[in-house]
Amino acid sequence: RALGKRFSIGTRFSSEGRRLVHAVDNVSLTVQRGETLGLVGESGCGKSTLARCLVRLYDITEGQLLFEGEDITGKSLAGLRPFRRRLQMVFQDPSASLNPRRRVGDLVAEPLRVHGKLGAKAIRERVVELFDLVGLLPDHVVRYPHEFSGGQRQRVGIARAIALNPDLVVLDEPVSALDVSVQAQIVNLLADLQEKLKLTYVFIAHDLSVVRQVSNRIAVMYLGSIVEEGPSEAVFSAPAHPYSQALISAVPVVETTPGGRRRRIILSGDVPSPLNPPTGCRFHPRCPVAQERCARERPALVEHKAGRKVACHFPTI
Ligand code: SF4
Ligand code: MG
Repeated sequence: RALGKRFSIGTRFSSEGRRLVHAVDNVSLTVQRGETLGLVGESGCGKSTLARCLVRLYDITEGQLLFEGEDITGKSLAGLRPFRRRLQMVFQDPSASLNPRRRVGDLVAEPLRVHGKLGAKAIRERVVELFDLVGLLPDHVVRYPHEFSGGQRQRVGIARAIALNPDLVVLDEPVSALDVSVQAQIVNLLADLQEKLKLTYVFIAHDLSVVRQVSNRIAVMYLGSIVEEGPSEAVFSAPAHPYSQALISAVPVVETTPGGRRRRIILSGDVPSPLNPPTGCRFHPRCPVAQERCARERPALVEHKAGRKVACHFPTI
């Protein structure tokens, strides 16, 4: 069957475990084939939970997850199998996600053994090919994860994720645990692979300069919900939601902008608990421009201009 044009990810995710109830709420996102959607927000805002919902590592109790128009929200493990190989995830900390007692060649071969139809020899060849794709040497296959640097371990994690030729790869803070000097190498590798293998990415990060560099579109999350979504450059140059404005104002501006430096907006207070979110607009206790209506009425994510959505009663757009 021909591949469809888009991945749709429907509304209102929440996860079953008590700890995670409403960690993600009322989110609606669509990821277009071939694009990189950047997902940003402070830690604890639900980015990682959403990421795991997207690849169905967590169950979704409300709403819908569509993959090329097919509803995979409630699919059983067996029903998910054909989708599993097409939806992959790269985790923040490769040391935690790679079994230390297994050779990295075996770790990369594992998805091929579980899902693929290749014989032992073909698997060995495919592993070497994957190592080459991610910039590792063929004789690295016999090493153990601890014999590698953080950057090399993340290359192993990426090789595992692309082993089955996925369509969508969710990258959860793929470079946050790495030295700054290594981050750019991994970002470049991901960009190369995206082009070569026609991958679609959801790229999660709290480092906005990385997200700006890699994303076509971005979605800004606050307390489990998307508060702004739009083309990356448009949102970065003129964020419309007060929370996005604060988040983006904290990024050091390298280029000299006409009119001088951007003023940094410091938010007061901590991120409230997602288990007991504020009434109305969830951002209102910290919003510098909140008005009385904001505490009462929850703003919906509304399209204000082509492709630009904002959830605010008083957006600057
Ligand atoms: Fe601020 Fe009100 Fe907009 Fe919420 S709805 S972001 S509180 S102005
Ligand atoms: Mg996280």
